[in-house]
Amino acid sequence: MLGLFQSRGSRLWLSPAATVNMTRKLFQPGGPLGIRDLGNDRYQMQITIPKDQDGRLARECPNSDCSPGYFKVKPGTGITDGQTFAYCPYCRHEATPTDFTTGEQVRYGKDLAVREAHKGIQGIINDALDLGPSGKRKFGGGFISMEMTYKPGTLPHVRQPFEDEVRRDVVCPHCTLDQTVFGLATWCADCGVDIFLTHVGAEVGVTRDMVRDIERRRELLGNRAAAKDLENCLEDAVSIFEATMKAMTRRWLEGRGDSINQVEAQLKKVGNSFQSIARTQE
Ligand SMILES: [Zn+2]
Ligand SMILES: [Zn+2]
Repeated sequence: MLGLFQSRGSRLWLSPAATVNMTRKLFQPGGPLGIRDLGNDRYQMQITIPKDQDGRLARECPNSDCSPGYFKVKPGTGITDGQTFAYCPYCRHEATPTDFTTGEQVRYGKDLAVREAHKGIQGIINDALDLGPSGKRKFGGGFISMEMTYKPGTLPHVRQPFEDEVRRDVVCPHCTLDQTVFGLATWCADCGVDIFLTHVGAEVGVTRDMVRDIERRRELLGNRAAAKDLENCLEDAVSIFEATMKAMTRRWLEGRGDSINQVEAQLKKVGNSFQSIARTQE
């Protein structure tokens, strides 16, 4: 039932499977969803997808092989007018901005549409049974009479789209897009430019902030907690170095034309060597 679904300037096209041959339409024009009757049982409605508490909009890579494939953008930053293509920060999949709608957002749009359809169906039933605004009709009137009542069911509840909350925020130095990623990313989601080092820098920055906070934590929680903090920061630094080297190696192998299997085989050989600078140099 869902045709086209657009999120920035969102639009939802609906075409009910069965034609309802009645005077009353399934969807009433206007209302909070700005419903328009396009004829031939096609309707257009405007659905505003809620943003998270920071005003960010969740996005999902249409490429099913992409991992994590999930990111966020802050509307109003980056390319603000006439954007024809958007990019996945992880795999640089190129598609129209509409194609990055998340499964949760599509579900939310469908829920709103179904809720609206319920209202229409209730009206159609009232009309078909000739019940009038009271929802009641009396047959006969003499000795035997019968009363028919239709009680409309409660409207389905619309659940807000829920998105995960593990994140790193980065502003693209080229197009100013404020974006959120959930893993080591390479590309800007709006301009598609390589901002790998900006991502690495942001990740290093988080660890640096934690190191700077150790003295405060020592005063607050004691020496043992401070030592653990430092240990964790060292581990993080090694993890960032390893992930960065892996991403760069993967890119270099793909760049020289290796197949996905060849790339994976090479990285398997590398194992955890990137956790050591000496072994990395080898
Ligand atoms: Zn992707
Ligand atoms: Zn950019």
